[in-house]
Amino acid sequence: MIYIQDKADRGRTPIGKGSDIMARRKKIYEGKAKTIYEGPEPGTIVQYFKDDTTAFNAEKKAVIEGKGVLNNILSEYFMVGLGNIGVPTHFLKRLNMREQLCRQVEIVPLEVIVRNYAAGSMAKRLGMEEGFQLPRPIVEYCLKDDKLGDPLVTEEHIAAFGWATQQDLDDMLSLALRVNDFLAGVMYGVGIKLIDFKIEIGRVYDGDFQRLIVADEISPDSCRLWDIETGQKLDKDVFRRDLGSLTDAYTEVAKRLGVLPQGATPMARPTLIN
Ligand code: C5P
Repeated sequence: MIYIQDKADRGRTPIGKGSDIMARRKKIYEGKAKTIYEGPEPGTIVQYFKDDTTAFNAEKKAVIEGKGVLNNILSEYFMVGLGNIGVPTHFLKRLNMREQLCRQVEIVPLEVIVRNYAAGSMAKRLGMEEGFQLPRPIVEYCLKDDKLGDPLVTEEHIAAFGWATQQDLDDMLSLALRVNDFLAGVMYGVGIKLIDFKIEIGRVYDGDFQRLIVADEISPDSCRLWDIETGQKLDKDVFRRDLGSLTDAYTEVAKRLGVLPQGATPMARPTLIN
């Protein structure tokens, strides 16, 4: 068992077990890596970061002890940083090692992917070598639909089928590129290349106005991160491609960014459940 000491927790909490924390709250939605609970105030939700890890549309699954804790603190770090430079996000406050309080949003049913280097599905689709630097950041949209495997869609599909308006698309593009500049800069500062990442966007209503903000999470689960010197992968590809310990990789990212809670030790090996 791994123990982490943290100011937001009461004493030493075994980070693999958090069911007592979530038992108090009403569940709204259970996703693959997070569970969403009702928040304490109207218009708020609590995001609980699980250790469950999936890849290839949940064909590959494991529980990786401590992953949820690392993603919670890393997502907090990125969301707070974005807020500080004026990029609106849903993040309000981290509550404890596995939970954060967020604004409730209506999730736009699209995954917004930004790519700086060819990798993953784009490298495969276009027959490109992974690591090839793109002439400019490329933004892609995928429809959030697990049954269809989150297919790539164009702006034409999005507008025609009403998944988002043209104004939403302009706003999403602007948000995605601002997140890209921020994340790429932060990562470069700690010797990591931001290859690509995915964000989700939420709609919020302020009186008669609605606007789009960054929602969900930003973590090594949703980014590709390569060490600048060695090219070592420090993201979920470690799990997808069986390249070693996922928690060692995420711990390395957290350590470089200086966000690893005091007393944290390297995590256990994954337990395969499927
Ligand atoms: O698989 P693909 O190359 O399209 O992924 C691009 C980026 O989006 C990667 O950083 C990946 O981790 C992220 N992604 C994600 N969730 C998905 C699909 C992709 O976080 N459902």
